[in-house]
Amino acid sequence: MSLLLLKNIGQLIQVENQGRPYKRGSEMADFPILRNCWLTIKNGRIQEIGAENSAPPTSTNSIDVQGATLMPTYVDSHSHLVYASNRQDEFAMRLAGLSYEEIAARGGGIINSAKKLRAYSEEALFADAQKRLAELIQMGTGAIEIKSGYGLDMESELKILRVARRLAKESKVEIKTTFLGAHALPPEFKNDKEGYLSLLINDMLPAIAAENLADYIDVFCEENYFSLEESLRIISAGKEYGLEAKVHVNQFNSLGAVPAMVNRGALSLDHLEVMTEADIESICESNTIACLLPGCSHFLEIPYAPAKELIAKNAIIALATDFNPGSSPNGNMNSVLSLACVKMKISAAEAFTASTLNGASAMGLSAELGSIEVGKLASLMILKQGYTLESIPYHFGHNLIETVILKGEIQ
Ligand SMILES: [Zn+2]
Repeated sequence: MSLLLLKNIGQLIQVENQGRPYKRGSEMADFPILRNCWLTIKNGRIQEIGAENSAPPTSTNSIDVQGATLMPTYVDSHSHLVYASNRQDEFAMRLAGLSYEEIAARGGGIINSAKKLRAYSEEALFADAQKRLAELIQMGTGAIEIKSGYGLDMESELKILRVARRLAKESKVEIKTTFLGAHALPPEFKNDKEGYLSLLINDMLPAIAAENLADYIDVFCEENYFSLEESLRIISAGKEYGLEAKVHVNQFNSLGAVPAMVNRGALSLDHLEVMTEADIESICESNTIACLLPGCSHFLEIPYAPAKELIAKNAIIALATDFNPGSSPNGNMNSVLSLACVKMKISAAEAFTASTLNGASAMGLSAELGSIEVGKLASLMILKQGYTLESIPYHFGHNLIETVILKGEIQ
């Protein structure tokens, strides 16, 4: 593949040369920028980064970005992108004043999503998810983690994970998959939780491993869903198949999952809206990534995770969309960045590090993505003229991205 030159770069943001897997605490605001420079791409990877004010090499294949800002693409480390159909009807009920209990009684919630998904063909599920992914790419997403959890039976959970694997094959986005069979208890096991846990551990997990469909294991550890003890059983079972843990914890209640999962070496703990002092201490002293989901807090009108305190106490923070049809029907990382700045009161630089390098770390991808570094994948976005990083949280709701390049190819 020929060389591609990007020249007249006004600002090149998040340039690194130390191969850091993540930045923690105050390092997150340490934000290297090169001005008036150039960059070359070969075979989908960053080949060379020109020094400030240096002359670019001659190349027939070049893009003059005319002083625009260039940044690495977003890494969305928590999503439920593969789902069967939206839940706008439930949203309308909520706006009409119905409570969550009333909406659930009318068939709402995760179980509603599972019912719809089971009836969907793999082909239709793929077509819908592919459309969603195409939209996300134009909003700067270059990598995304996708969870199962809307199937809740063997066939449907496998169906979701196969769709996610196929999306990875057919796009330039880096995709990692997570088995979240323990998202909710399916109706057919309403009075037999042990039966479902046995199906999940003894049947689903081996089948998923046999087809190599998952990279990670997840559980919704929450009151009325899965207890801490059940969650630990599930992640231990996943570990036997080489699946590291990325776990939904502390969304509504602190069940002690943070220290317990940190002690078991979880890669990331996600949500963290409700945190005790002990929870904060344990994650801040560990290498487990705190993956925060402000879109979910906004949409459900629940508290935001204490990002500022976590950063002050030296945690590794990632930001992700939690894109799903129930609690966060938004896959736009630009708006996540904006919410993090406005609602969690962190800086644009901290939010961007959390949305790129630290997100990549939460997907085991920081050697490939998350910063602009020689040898990494050339997944970059060029902003529209006159805008820079700080413009993104400021112009909330706008798309300031002119061009997205994934693995060296314009999208
Ligand atoms: Zn989630």
